[in-house]
Amino acid sequence: MNAGKSAELYARAVGLMPGGVNSPVRAMGSIGRDPIFIDRGAGNRVWDVDGNEYVDWVCSWGPLILGHANPDVVGAVTAAAARGTSYGAATAGEVELAAEVADRFASVEMIRMVNSGTEASMSAIRLARAATGRDRVLKFAGAYHGHVDGLLAEAGSGLATQAIPASPGVPRAQAEATAIVPWNDRVAVEQAVDMYEPAAILCEPIPANMGLVPPAEGFLEHLRALADRSGALLICDEVISGFRVARGGAQELLGVRADLTVMGKVIGGGLPAAAYGGPRELLEQVAPAGAVYQAGTLSGNPLAVAAGLATLHRLDAAAYERIGVATDRLASGLERAAADAGGAGRISVSSAPGLVTPFFAAEAPHDFTGSQACDHDAYGRFCRAMLERGFFPPPSQYEAWFVSLAHDDESIDRTCDAAADCFREALA
Ligand SMILES: *Cc1c(COP(=O)(O)O)cnc(C)c1O
Repeated sequence: MNAGKSAELYARAVGLMPGGVNSPVRAMGSIGRDPIFIDRGAGNRVWDVDGNEYVDWVCSWGPLILGHANPDVVGAVTAAAARGTSYGAATAGEVELAAEVADRFASVEMIRMVNSGTEASMSAIRLARAATGRDRVLKFAGAYHGHVDGLLAEAGSGLATQAIPASPGVPRAQAEATAIVPWNDRVAVEQAVDMYEPAAILCEPIPANMGLVPPAEGFLEHLRALADRSGALLICDEVISGFRVARGGAQELLGVRADLTVMGKVIGGGLPAAAYGGPRELLEQVAPAGAVYQAGTLSGNPLAVAAGLATLHRLDAAAYERIGVATDRLASGLERAAADAGGAGRISVSSAPGLVTPFFAAEAPHDFTGSQACDHDAYGRFCRAMLERGFFPPPSQYEAWFVSLAHDDESIDRTCDAAADCFREALA
């Protein structure tokens, strides 16, 4: 593995951008190495600036469900760009995309497009606060909804679930408007809802930012019932699960109805786009139909809309079937690799359609405490070994592997073969 050019770029980058990157996980610090600079991608592969080829399991952290440089997406973006990159005025594509989303999500009649998942969750919360006349928001430990001030909060010590800032620069008052409870803990959510009367219960219905930690049987139904009982809105952040785990996201897969849905990643097909949506009576409270202000210069950008539409048009029933089969092949292959490497009782694999996490733990975690307790150093050793062999797993135990339609049997099987060696190295 050559690394000269990545090293050179990194040396320049650290003087120009914090940590040399524009989003922290790219720095690869949590697996104890310097970042790789990517030159190009095609299908399930990426190549770095030193010419090393990798089977890519990051896939831009989810948007690239068709793989890199998909010809439909590239064609749609190219055609859109030739007609102008942004107008700051309404376009036909936005109507088509909104209709496509509303068709997929039973709980969504209308959407508002924004540019990032962060913006989408921030705006959905504003709408929930306006609709309920309440301020507090309940979220789950280990769930990520973007870098919104009030959501960069963590549970304080003791019994109280009122949160404290999780980052310098977050006002205490913002963090205190957030209550944090452990995922999959029915009693804790119930107590917090009673105590805080939140505007919203905000969840990733299939959390994938503490590694993949699916909901326990009945947990989402419990959240739905608590929201109904307390007058809170249930906000499902489907930035990862939406358009991925099923045509209509986790809500379809698990049979739960959100009041507001936060979308991102796949919806932009690899360009910056996100959205929040829900029933008409809620969305019509957003400006200019209603009084809740929210706007964006590049929102509904024609290139992003074209990429999103081209992506969604490829995601039919057959596509979801294939992603399910590919996910099972990867998950069972990694399980077998772990067993071959003597990792029985030390590695466990979680999966949901399009998402896989191998945890360095005897049991797949049920909550954030569980995923914090994993052997993160071993995951780091595993990741570094995989990179050396030409495979690009997410460089953090807290991230899921993203399965795309471009991952064929060959790329999956080679990954699992390599994983057996790398698990062995990591456990040694
Ligand atoms: C990535 C992510 C976000 C934030 O989206 P950005 O576009 O990075 O701001 C929000 N929620 C979830 C569940 C995510 O995975």
